[in-house]
Amino acid sequence: MQAGEFDLIARIRARAGTRADVVLGIGDDAALLQPPPGRQLVVTADMLNVGVHFPEDTAAAAVGWKSLAVNLSDLAAMGAAPAWCMLSLSLPASDPDWLEGFLDGFLSLASRSGIVLVGGDTTRGPLSIAVTAMGFIEPGKALRRDGARVGDEVWVSGTPGDAAAALRLHPAAPAALRERLDRPSPRNALGLRLPGIASAAVDVSDGLLADLGHITRSSGAGAVIELEHLPVSEALRAAFDPPSRHDLQASGGDDYELCFTAAPEHHAAIDALARELDLPLACIGRIVEGEGVRARVDGQPWQAARTGYAHF
Ligand code: ADP
Ligand code: MG
Repeated sequence: MQAGEFDLIARIRARAGTRADVVLGIGDDAALLQPPPGRQLVVTADMLNVGVHFPEDTAAAAVGWKSLAVNLSDLAAMGAAPAWCMLSLSLPASDPDWLEGFLDGFLSLASRSGIVLVGGDTTRGPLSIAVTAMGFIEPGKALRRDGARVGDEVWVSGTPGDAAAALRLHPAAPAALRERLDRPSPRNALGLRLPGIASAAVDVSDGLLADLGHITRSSGAGAVIELEHLPVSEALRAAFDPPSRHDLQASGGDDYELCFTAAPEHHAAIDALARELDLPLACIGRIVEGEGVRARVDGQPWQAARTGYAHF
């Protein structure tokens, strides 16, 4: 069944919901939003293209979930509280069933994350989803990439490597790995707790070494990480032995975990946070003098087969 652009927008509007801080949401030329007094606005955008950011066989609900999750992950990496988002859709056909499935995934993650859809754009073209997410932060509290100091510990959440493993095994990936590729869990609960603890943070979208490299470059330092300290999921352990496993953990993208640095005095507090959030937080290395990220396995230098994902 085909539907017009305005029918598609009406379906989105009917399901989007609203909130008191949305003075004017979907339906006018632009949205009117009321930030809380004394908070800075944190704004981020991420685009997902079929065949580049998700396999063509990805379910509509997973595409919806992931398109919001990757943006929530950027807010998490800044330590911001999710607030509002915009959704720009390029669709090859006007397919209401696909759109409803997409909204199932998008809006279920939105409501559990406290983010409200306030506008967007709907056009015809190759399947592509561009989301802009906005959040709030107290001035001076944002987690930036340039705050790491020599001697800080390097931490990572979750079990990096799972999403890249699913991609490598595609289309025959075990369900547990495919789930991690399709429905990443943005770490907003963690991100909200890190201001005051972390000195720098980044989300792991392009690969752990590559993304940690953004912190070391911005901070004017280097890092040494011990790959055997990375938590390994059951599914990844079953599917890949080292050295392929280390390659996926160190260089695989799409995990949307957080990598952050913190002074050693915060070590116990971070361990306690991991228990409280029921989320693995592993201390995997240190910030050192110099530049670049060096990885080791059992104390021996480890050379990546490939570094993180880059589009060009
Ligand atoms: P205009 O032509 O003035 O840009 P549109 O027809 O593109 O208006 O959009 C009408 C309203 O619907 C606007 O409020 C816009 O933000 C909203 N909208 C359009 N597409 C989407 C979408 N994919 N998700 C959420 N809101 C949307
Ligand atoms: Mg428009």
